[in-house]
Amino acid sequence: MSNYHQFDVIVVGAGGAGLMAALYASKTANTAVISKLYPTRSHTGTAQGGVGAALGNEGEDHPDWHTFDTVKGSDYLGDQDAIEFMCHEAVPAVYELEHMGLPFSRTEDGLIAQRPFGGHTNNITGKPVRRACYAADRTGHMILQTLYQQCIKNDVNFFDEFQVLDVLIENGAAAGVVALELANRELHVFHAKSVIFATGGHGRIWEITSNAYSYTGDGPAALLRRGIPMEDMEFFQFHPTGIYRMGILITEGVRGEGGILVNDKGERFMEHYAPTVKDLASRDVISRAMYLEMRDGRGINGKRYLYLDMRPETVNRYAALDGRKRPDGSPYVVTGEELLSKLPDIVDFARTYLGVDPVAQPMPVQPTAHYAMGGIPTNMYGEVVIDEANTVLPGLYAAGECACVSVHGANRLGTNSLLDLIVFGKHAGLRAAEYANGASFQTLPADPLEYANQQLDQILHSDGEEKVYVIGHEMKSVMFDEVGVFRTQEGMQKALEKIGELRERLKRVRKPDMGKVFNTELLDIWELGNLLELAEVTTVSALARTESRGGHAREDYPKRDDVNWLKHTLAWKRNGNIELGYKPVVITKFQPKERVY
Ligand SMILES: Cc1cc2nc3c(=O)[nH]c(=O)nc-3n(C[C@H](O)[C@H](O)[C@H](O)COP(=O)(O)OP(=O)(O)OC[C@H]3O[C@@H](n4cnc5c(N)ncnc54)[C@H](O)[C@@H]3O)c2cc1C
Repeated sequence: MSNYHQFDVIVVGAGGAGLMAALYASKTANTAVISKLYPTRSHTGTAQGGVGAALGNEGEDHPDWHTFDTVKGSDYLGDQDAIEFMCHEAVPAVYELEHMGLPFSRTEDGLIAQRPFGGHTNNITGKPVRRACYAADRTGHMILQTLYQQCIKNDVNFFDEFQVLDVLIENGAAAGVVALELANRELHVFHAKSVIFATGGHGRIWEITSNAYSYTGDGPAALLRRGIPMEDMEFFQFHPTGIYRMGILITEGVRGEGGILVNDKGERFMEHYAPTVKDLASRDVISRAMYLEMRDGRGINGKRYLYLDMRPETVNRYAALDGRKRPDGSPYVVTGEELLSKLPDIVDFARTYLGVDPVAQPMPVQPTAHYAMGGIPTNMYGEVVIDEANTVLPGLYAAGECACVSVHGANRLGTNSLLDLIVFGKHAGLRAAEYANGASFQTLPADPLEYANQQLDQILHSDGEEKVYVIGHEMKSVMFDEVGVFRTQEGMQKALEKIGELRERLKRVRKPDMGKVFNTELLDIWELGNLLELAEVTTVSALARTESRGGHAREDYPKRDDVNWLKHTLAWKRNGNIELGYKPVVITKFQPKERVY
């Protein structure tokens, strides 16, 4: 059967996490990667600012400081054993990328260059440190290209433009996946001993988002439908600086290089909200501050945006006021040329999308949906865990943004996602290969395609008149307004009702194009189903959590509540309903404290 394939390890997704997993799995096991996109088009390629590692190349830094910052940034919801593991693995992981040939930007001495980023601090003084290793503002692009080359060199098999629709679980263990070949609409069975999900995020749930069109949560949704819970889905990060109305990301690296946020009165308002690190506070803190400024009428011209100012005269004025120094102790003074060389893509984006030259004019920005802290629950070896007791589902793994280890807890620090990909992608790959080498293939069900076919048939035989883009728009708009930066019980209930209505309407969607070749309309409908599924889990989890923590800020419960809520949410889909459970946070060295920046 030409549409039947067998591999020891199947990796779903060819972003940073998937490629790192495949690279490591392929060292000892027959490995294939399935990707709905051509690999180097994965969202990892858009990551701009950097990858975090305490190399200490541009000032003192330590993996233990990185660990504490990540715990604090997570608002104490991250699992401290996993965080410590990641921050210590960071240093060799970045050098490994360097040795693979990744063209990092360099210091004058030829070391990997590092820039400040939000929440990265000297644990003694509380002042920013330079921890983000970068390749100009194209760090993710370079990681993706480097890892893809390594995978090709290592003979990893690639099935490009195949979209996974279903996961097969037999006898309580992973058995493979079912994928649609986009070029001809044929279904394929991939029989495997180990399956690693690395499908990225689901930020297309929200109206203003930095996320690629492909960020539709296919992996988590497929697993949810097969009985796997989702962890901490109420925690979704809004990045402070998306281009006004478009959401396209302006990296935190701009503020790392000295850019500041300004309101309509010309004030650097972050001074009031985070007096020590100001514009380099963690993202949840800044997004909320921006929202409050705009709500109180201090948006630019009273509108829903603020300015991000990286003009050299502004950067230099505030750097002098802050007493900012270069690593050699000299005062921090930048020129337009230097900013251009460190942030070339940002300058390009601002010119293209805003018609603004950021070296001469400030950029209009607003918070944009950016990163899923929640996702498929795993332990720190990438093994998927399916209940409150962290029981492992044999042969099933997840890594990258679709997974929840949890190292980001309630809020991720900038540069920790690229780090998460390379550290946990690697370990998921190693574990998956190790397991496959000791296990046999599960017997497949009589008709492995049944559930995937059923999902497609429902769409192809639909006889309604609802339009997919109208349903999508209504979801994005209610989620952005009601399950966004700030939340209330009333608003979220409204959103939940709307999602229920939209799920019903999606069943009556207008029949799509019946073509067999790259039928994107069919897949748009299937993907919208995934987004609605995850929007529901997000909202139900958020409604239950009656506190504010990290990216989950409730106006009706403004305080963090460690007595009742220092725990991870698990959400299952059972008989059409979302059921919630909870599991403890792993606390090793750091007892929860109030976060002050
Ligand atoms: C604009 C932007 C800038 C960012 N900048 C930074 C930064 O500077 N530093 C940082 O640490 N983080 C950054 N992040 C976050 C970080 O880049 C992402 O979280 C990370 O790259 C996700 O990697 P991944 O490997 O999990 O997924 P991706 O790179 O998105 O890859 C997902 C893969 O899954 C495949 N896939 C998805 N669904 C299916 C399916 N159904 N079937 C088959 N294949 C499927 C896709 O084809 C793709 O290959 C940024 C994110 C964005 C959006």
